[in-house]
Order: sequence, then structure tokens, then C-alpha cells
Amino acid sequence: MLTQNPLSQERKRKLRWFIVLSTMPLLGVLTAFGLVPQSDLGLPAAKVAIEEIALPTVNDAITVTSFWRSERVQRGDTVAELLSRLNIDDAAASTFLRNAPEAESFRKLSVGKEIQAETTDTGSLITLRYLGNNGAQVLIDKQNGLFQASILPAQLEKRLFVRTGEIKTNLYAATDAAGMPEAAANQLHELFSGDIDFHHDLRVGDKFTVVYEMTYHNGALQSTGRIQSAEFINQGRVYRAIYFQKDDQHGDYYTPEGKSVRKAFLRSPIEYSRVSSGFSNSRFHPLLNKWKAHKGVDFAAPTGTKIKATADGVVTYIGKENGYGNIIRIKHQGRYTTVYGHLSRFAQGLHRGQRVAQGELIGYVGMTGLASGPHLHYEFKINGQHHNPMRVALPDAQPISSSYQEAFQVVADDFVARLNLLRNTNLAKLD
Ligand SMILES: [Zn+2]
Repeated sequence: MLTQNPLSQERKRKLRWFIVLSTMPLLGVLTAFGLVPQSDLGLPAAKVAIEEIALPTVNDAITVTSFWRSERVQRGDTVAELLSRLNIDDAAASTFLRNAPEAESFRKLSVGKEIQAETTDTGSLITLRYLGNNGAQVLIDKQNGLFQASILPAQLEKRLFVRTGEIKTNLYAATDAAGMPEAAANQLHELFSGDIDFHHDLRVGDKFTVVYEMTYHNGALQSTGRIQSAEFINQGRVYRAIYFQKDDQHGDYYTPEGKSVRKAFLRSPIEYSRVSSGFSNSRFHPLLNKWKAHKGVDFAAPTGTKIKATADGVVTYIGKENGYGNIIRIKHQGRYTTVYGHLSRFAQGLHRGQRVAQGELIGYVGMTGLASGPHLHYEFKINGQHHNPMRVALPDAQPISSSYQEAFQVVADDFVARLNLLRNTNLAKLD
């Protein structure tokens, strides 16, 4: 907090001027020039230069209209002291910051908080910026000759992180040890689960490297974004995945060769559920009270659980059908059909002939038709023949399209080069 003590003895301090480049067309005039170090307030570094002490000479070629300075609140600081360090010599600003209710957050700033001030060359305050103790970015400036305070929109910043790990017991122990956030660990698991069975295939000594994105909101971590690229070495086999975005909406993971990492089908239409009744050519049906083949699998899940289309396709049937109750049939890539039965209800507006995407919500678990309890009955057919959806070899999703091949290759080559570099440094440490 800023105290209201009288102004202490003025000390001579090294001036560090922050000068907005846009007002200085001729950089050559400056004696020193560099990028501002990382700032809490995130002033765009590329637009700012530092100049030590020497002010540019004013002539008709260069007009410096304002200067930025940055200071941190010190223990025992008064408003006057802080303004003095910020080189603000402005009675109206001083009165506002000392008394105005809108500037209360300024007077309550804790020790160490950074304040950035833009002044004229005579010390009049133009703009004051700081992160309040509650994390909101406050801007104080003049409107119609009067100072006012406003909250700036959040500053979002994305940073990339690289983590390398080695399996000692299980995947999550290794991602924890590598310091990966849970969301990134889950993505890693999901990314390679089409190729690696993490329950049975994992071995001690397997290694991974992951590059992921984190979003910061006014300098504080807001969310863990997606994995940009990853490598998993399982039993000596190398699996790699690179995220490639062809436009604002559509991105996917590919191998460096451009094959899709994703499978064309999800293994299961619902998350986190157990198979309550497996695929068999003969089982005793509890309701029909006779032996009957079970040409699909049942997933036990509470009524209302979301059901996803396991692959891109077209709805060929949606409605009621005998024992199945509410049922959806979807046709995929010509040869494949998936069937979802016993639904309590369908996704709103879903109709016959509609195109659905993999993972899209199509309905909700229920117990319509012949069902002893809420569950999803799921079938997987190839050319009309039933296959066990939990065992069938799933086809790969579409590779990178030829129109994006060139752009993708640039991203992929860069990734592979970085990965090789990382592998030679980080992984060497693990060996
Ligand atoms: Zn069933």
C-alpha cells in the first residue's frame, strides 16, 4: 500500500526512458536502443524502445511528444514519491491520484506492483497504467481535460512450453514429474491412444516430448491450450503428431508425413463408460429370456449421457425401431455403418440425410425399446457385416489434403528440426 508520509529526500536516480517509437521516425538519433524487458503490464515490446538518459534533440525531423517510464511500488512509498520517480510533475494528476475515489486502486497498490506512466516532456501526465491488486488492468488518462480511470480489456498472451518425460510407472506419473498441466497430459493421452494402448503397451523407459500452449490473462495463467506437437517413443517405436490449422476453424493432428493421427472412428461413442455387455455371437438375453447373438456392445451410462457420432457421416435413419427403441443409423465413407440404440432422446434438430462430424452430439443415453436399464447399444458394420467395435481395426482419418501439403510441410519440417534438437539435449539428460 502507498502511505501518505511526507515526501522523503529526493534521490538521484538513473533515468530509464520508455519512448514510444511511433512518435520517433528517426531512430538513429538515439544513443541506445533496445527492446524493453518483459513487463508485467505487457506493453507491446516491439513498439517500445529504451533510451538511457540522453533525450533526443528536438528538431523538425523528430518530434518526441511523450515518454513512458516504469516504476515499482516500494515499501513506504507515498503518492508524491512515486509520481516523482515516474517523472510526473502535474498538480491535477497528483490531486486526482491522491483523492479521487476512482483512483483508490492506485493508492492500494502493494509493494512490487509495476506502474507505467506516459508523460509530456514537461512532466504532465498523459496515461498511467497498472495492474490492480485484483488483477484488472487500470488505465488513467485525461478526457475533456479531466482525469478518469477505466479498466482495460484483458491482455491475453500465449506462450509455448516444452516438456520431456520418461515412463517409470504410468503415463500420468510421468507427465506430473515432467511438470505438465493435467489438460496437456490428457491431450497427450488422447493424441496417441489410437496407436498406443496406454494400459497394456506402455513400458518403463518410454519417452515423450510435448510442446503445448498456455494462455495468460494479464500475466496470470488462464488456461492450458492445445498441444502443438508431440513425440512418443513406445517400445522403441516413434510416434509423432503435429497440429496443423488450415483456417480459423479447422485444425487437426498429422504425422510429419501428413497422415492423420486421428482414426476415422472413435472407439466409443460415449466418454468414460464401461462395456456392460460385449460383442458375441451367442448370449442369453435377459429380457427375451432366450439365447441370442449380441451383434454390438452395450455401454452402461446414466440416462441423459451425451452420445457422439464416432465418425463423419450421414444420418440414414432416425426414429423408433422395435427392440432398439429410439435409434440412429449413420453411414460413413460408403462401406461403414454405425448404429446407436435405446436413446432417451435425439440431439435437437437432427434429421435424416443430415451430415454429422466425428464427435458431434447426436443424442442421449436412455432405455427405450428392450432394455433392462439405461445403456447405449452400439453396432459397427462393414459392408453390412457386424464387427466388434472394440476390436475392429479402425481406418485412419483423411491425410492432409494436397492443397495444404506445402504449407503443412513447412510446419512439419520446423517441428522435426526442433524435436531433433530437443531430443539431443533434453532426452540426453534423461538417459
Ligand atoms: Zn446391446
